[in-house]
Amino acid sequence: MAGTIEKNYAEKVIEEIIEGMPEKTQKDRKKHFKVVGSDTESCNITSNRKSRPGVMTIRGCAYAGSKGVVWGPVKDMLHISHGPVGCGQYSWGTRRNYATGTLGVDNFTVFQITSDYQEKDIVFGADKKLSTMIDEIETMFPLNRGVSIQSECPIGLIGEDIEAVARTKSEETGKPVVPVRCEGFRGVSQSLGHHIANDALRDWIYEKQLGTPEVEDSPYNIALIGDYNIGGDAWGSRKILEEMGLKVISQGTGDSTVAELKNVSRSKLVLLHCYRSMNYIARYLEEIYKVPWMEFNFFGPTQIIKSMRAIAAHFDKKVQKRTEKLIAEKYQPYFDEITARFRPRVEGKSVMLYVGGLRPRHVMPVFEDLGMPATITGYEFAHGDDYQRTLEYVKNTTVLVDDLNEYEMERLIEKLRPDLVGSGIKEKYQCQKSGIPFRQMHSWDYSGPYHGIEGYAIFARDIDMAVNGPIWKMLTPPWEKAASE
Ligand code: SF4
Repeated sequence: MAGTIEKNYAEKVIEEIIEGMPEKTQKDRKKHFKVVGSDTESCNITSNRKSRPGVMTIRGCAYAGSKGVVWGPVKDMLHISHGPVGCGQYSWGTRRNYATGTLGVDNFTVFQITSDYQEKDIVFGADKKLSTMIDEIETMFPLNRGVSIQSECPIGLIGEDIEAVARTKSEETGKPVVPVRCEGFRGVSQSLGHHIANDALRDWIYEKQLGTPEVEDSPYNIALIGDYNIGGDAWGSRKILEEMGLKVISQGTGDSTVAELKNVSRSKLVLLHCYRSMNYIARYLEEIYKVPWMEFNFFGPTQIIKSMRAIAAHFDKKVQKRTEKLIAEKYQPYFDEITARFRPRVEGKSVMLYVGGLRPRHVMPVFEDLGMPATITGYEFAHGDDYQRTLEYVKNTTVLVDDLNEYEMERLIEKLRPDLVGSGIKEKYQCQKSGIPFRQMHSWDYSGPYHGIEGYAIFARDIDMAVNGPIWKMLTPPWEKAASE
């Protein structure tokens, strides 16, 4: 197949890359690479371990996983970045978790709220400051539906009792005040931040039962979770589900409210898009509220249609018939039109992916819908179960890499020359300077949505634009070109 790589060659390249590192690092990094194929049943790659010091890992921290990913998008709460000013400032408005509402009135997603720790706070603690902040929040933003306290590194180190402040303030305001122990030194990546954030949701929203959900019972009630509405993704997904005849009573945490978080327990089925970041709460909801959950994938025609059928199978014949009609009369013809337009322009080009905990596998099929095989894919913070799930998507020889660092990235693109790289902002300019087309696979390069029906059209257009951009023909100055001819 055009654009694919040879297994032996890929293994040789990995060996060469690893040889360029210090001995101890070589021993460790070796375990984080595997070359797999469609017949690989288990890859046993090492994952979810500490990064080697000094290698320029691409990972973030637990605060990023909790505040940046899980809690930050809940729009009618104010999320205090508790600690010095940096973490909140750098994560201010950088993740495109879209939300409706009036900013500063009932939508606070683009605010940077920080306790701005000073030296005296480190020495004496800042619990009083935190209490005052919550009082100020109540005065300035009366329509808020709660507050979360997102701990930055120093909080755990100085032993501040944020839980005591949360309990007192929650009693006073009658709203959830959620203390989250997501200090950046915990765990090895964003991943533990997800888990801690999910547990805070369990302990301080569900178990506290601060106000019960008020939503009409219906056999078609569903909850859509683990979708952060990047560039409007969750809205694209929601549209499909509603057209199928289902009622989305909760969407989370992208564009969600406190009320919607509570509503999840009243759904008949929990649909989980990002398994890595929210499987913990899905398991809890199943155990306590007996609501089943299932994973699905709304990237591109193949997976959308497959997922729609799998979701419909949980409901009655009415929903199933409606879903089939929708696919046959509306979605499939639309998808075919998009594929016919863009596939001939990008077919046979290979892709390297390196993203967080879900997309390195979830977007592989949408690239295949356009005839683009993934030859390299890897995660910043996936666990063994994510790698196992990745194997279900592998169609050709693929290099799997865990916790890639910038040196390895540079060497991989130099040796295996993918035709497109899909990764993050820290990788973008390095790839482009190497002459390789690049699309940001976290922020969608300020485009999107990529989930759902129209999402496919936007995705296909963006990939075409990146791969076939005229700029790639202009990298060598004409006088150098002439000299080499
Ligand atoms: S590691 Fe600590 S200081 Fe750095 S961003 Fe995370 S919480 Fe903030």
